[in-house]
Amino acid sequence: MQHIPQVRERLGYVFDSFRRLGVVRALVRDLRRQGLDLPIRVTAKEAYGSLIWKVPTLSAVIRILHNPAYAGAYVYGRSEYFSERRSPKTGKASAHVRNVAQWPVRITEHHPAYISWEEFVKNQEHLRQNWGHDENQGVPREGRALLQGMVYCGLCGRKMSVQNRAAKENRSPSYVCGRGYQDGEEKSCQCMTSRPIDAAVVEVFLAAVSPISLQVATQVIDQVEQDLISQRRQRDLQLEQARYEARLAQRQYDAVDPSNRLVAAELERRWNEKLERVAELERAFARAERDAEWNLTTEERSAITELSRDLPAIWSAETTTNQERKQLLRIAIESVQVDGISETGQVEVQIRWRSGTVTSLSVKRTAPGERSLKTPEEAVSRIHKMAPRRSYAEIATALNRAGLRSAFGRRFTPQHVGYICRRDGLDKRKLRSGSKRQHNPDAGRPAES
Ligand SMILES: [Zn+2]
Repeated sequence: MQHIPQVRERLGYVFDSFRRLGVVRALVRDLRRQGLDLPIRVTAKEAYGSLIWKVPTLSAVIRILHNPAYAGAYVYGRSEYFSERRSPKTGKASAHVRNVAQWPVRITEHHPAYISWEEFVKNQEHLRQNWGHDENQGVPREGRALLQGMVYCGLCGRKMSVQNRAAKENRSPSYVCGRGYQDGEEKSCQCMTSRPIDAAVVEVFLAAVSPISLQVATQVIDQVEQDLISQRRQRDLQLEQARYEARLAQRQYDAVDPSNRLVAAELERRWNEKLERVAELERAFARAERDAEWNLTTEERSAITELSRDLPAIWSAETTTNQERKQLLRIAIESVQVDGISETGQVEVQIRWRSGTVTSLSVKRTAPGERSLKTPEEAVSRIHKMAPRRSYAEIATALNRAGLRSAFGRRFTPQHVGYICRRDGLDKRKLRSGSKRQHNPDAGRPAES
């Protein structure tokens, strides 16, 4: 393998790091943290074989680690094909990756290597063991019951459960209200496919929790915490004063001659009064402390800070697991209420944010067989064309003017355009004019005309 020095050095680093870290996910994180891109050979027809540098993804690193060429070997037949099993979509024969030992052609020490053949074989074994079946399938773009545990039935208020489909059915899970079953009725209260609901909530979430509003949110948190600290200081001073007065009253009572019953009785009354005042303040302050208890844990706070860097990129990164996506949603969303009965063909969704505000939207129920939940091609290609020259706000305006709508029939917002740009690697960190007011509680309302 003839490689230019930069490529050689970077690939060498990848193999060294994998030796050191042992976990692909950690390796990807490490590369990203250091801003180290990976050299990729273009395999698309137009620019076949040319070299580009790309932000490391899980799949790219795995491809490198699985590639026997880097162990100096020439191999043939890493996959076997079954002509009787063809993909219904593409018509291609289904492939099965063979174990190293089963490769029909294998010439080791064919060319200079980054790692020894032994280490390569060891890595393959290691990767296989580390790699749960689940992760191997890749992360689905659109959620798999991401709202699990926070969806409530909009009709009866119960928490809805998730009903998973058999994997071969290739359908997304459903949210089901269990009321009917539990009460022995024939039908459940309501049930709906999770995919469109998840996707709509995620779209609103990404728009609402944009980097700028997160920054504002953390500033607000800081301010609230500052206020709490000074309020607490005031309460402490007040309580200290009341306790001092109670002690003083006690001393006056202690000092009086008990035979002077009238005076003693009056001083005792005053002392009791002071003690009551102390108890009252203590109760009130305990209540204030409870009310002021901040909802965010330290971990959540640091998660928010982490997020504010670039949520859409984190969200769509291949290294982000669905488990992590669920956690991200929970940081901002308290619960989601769905009502798929009141409007035919629609699901009315209410998102209750942890900030206390509510966003309502309606989601079109997917008809059987319909599975297009993507931003229309036309809109995406226009965004790609305009991205180098225009701001997100300008692009959004242009798309809306052309009558284009998002996957959910909503008007495009600068945040939405920004999301697509970052997702597709077109982010230029440009100033987004017109996107200052992002924490609009109406952001999630359907904006159909
Ligand atoms: Zn119900």
